[in-house]
Amino acid sequence: MKSMNVAIRRREFLALAAAPLLRGMPILKIKDISVITTEPAGVRLIVVKVQTDQDGLYGYGCATFTQRADLVVEAVSRYLKPLLLGRPADAIEDTWELMYNSSYWRNGPVLNNAISGVDQALWDIKGRQAGMPVYELLGGKARSAAMIYRHAAGAEIPETIDQARKLMAGGAKAIRLQVGVPGMAAYGAPGGPHQGGAAEQPQDPIFDPEAYVRRSLQLFEAARKELGPEIELLHDVHERVSPRLAVQFAKDMEQFRLFFLEDALSPEDIDYFRQIRAHCTTPLAMGELFNSPHEWTPLIKDSLIDYIRVHVSQAGGLTPARKIANLAETFQVKTAWHGPGDVSPIGHCANVTLDIACRNFGIQEWTMPNDRLLEVFDGYPVVKDGYVYVNEKPGWGVEINEKAAARYPFGSSERGEHKKLNGGWGVVRRPDGTVINQ
Ligand code: MG
Repeated sequence: MKSMNVAIRRREFLALAAAPLLRGMPILKIKDISVITTEPAGVRLIVVKVQTDQDGLYGYGCATFTQRADLVVEAVSRYLKPLLLGRPADAIEDTWELMYNSSYWRNGPVLNNAISGVDQALWDIKGRQAGMPVYELLGGKARSAAMIYRHAAGAEIPETIDQARKLMAGGAKAIRLQVGVPGMAAYGAPGGPHQGGAAEQPQDPIFDPEAYVRRSLQLFEAARKELGPEIELLHDVHERVSPRLAVQFAKDMEQFRLFFLEDALSPEDIDYFRQIRAHCTTPLAMGELFNSPHEWTPLIKDSLIDYIRVHVSQAGGLTPARKIANLAETFQVKTAWHGPGDVSPIGHCANVTLDIACRNFGIQEWTMPNDRLLEVFDGYPVVKDGYVYVNEKPGWGVEINEKAAARYPFGSSERGEHKKLNGGWGVVRRPDGTVINQ
């Protein structure tokens, strides 16, 4: 009898050894990959869904590159899907590397976003399988909640300040201020009808960097007077001025004690951060357009910026973003992940996961959802008194109503030029007609 039990146990042991088990859990395989496209808040969003061979176990990842959305969809369904079907769903680092290297030509926004969709979906799957939110897989909470900043913007200075007051009354502790400039397009604020200029394409928006800088300095002078010294204020240059003007502007803004000045330079001009650093103490944030370590590593290792604000899906997902955060921590650079409306709720959850789990969190840009977005995505992180709280459900803690997503197809809420360009952004010119950064 005793020997029979031993024989059964031995057989069970051999069967277990032969089964695809890893750390007590079955090795999952990737069974299907699909792409969810939707526009519930007027912005094209892309989410990748990875299904495993275990019934009901799947994950979602943000792959939103809103200006070239259709290309990301094709990159996932025509290239990554055939590459990944049947491969393990639990080897995230390995899968990231094979996706990244499989195109040979790499570091571009279309492919990085496609990779991010799969990468974040695999993290979601791992969390769901473990019954834990993803931040637990990264080591657990380093803080209770993440401080956010909201946007206040108006065509006129008093309008921007009124909006900021309302946000402060709602508990906001940090606010980005932008203002329009009469007679020209502005970034992050309503523009006015065009006036003058020598451009031969009068339909294209005009932006005058000098006028923008003068107006922005007036805005912050008024804001500090009216909003007081305690509220944290931020501003986004959106890379639209020359390097020389950026150095002067950062220096002139020093007196207003910003939380940070964002994108003072374009990625092509990042060497000029050295000059800004040499001339003022204005805290600097940079990185939403970055694709690769070649861009963020020099700025971080030479401590030329204070906040790295990569768009997580643009860099390839949670896997590389976590590495960026760890690199930045060593050099006293904090994180401020890009968090506008062209990040899906899955992407916002990835941001908040990093915010909660990483030691060197700085601040989180935040977009409040509308009702249609909440109809499609169940589990958007909750904001209270200027802080965002991570979702405590397994994985990202988000479920997608795919029928609701289909009610808001690409292009359904776009108008005019935006719709004509298939969700693209068009062009911006200086008054003399020169094309400048978007
Ligand atoms: Mg920006």
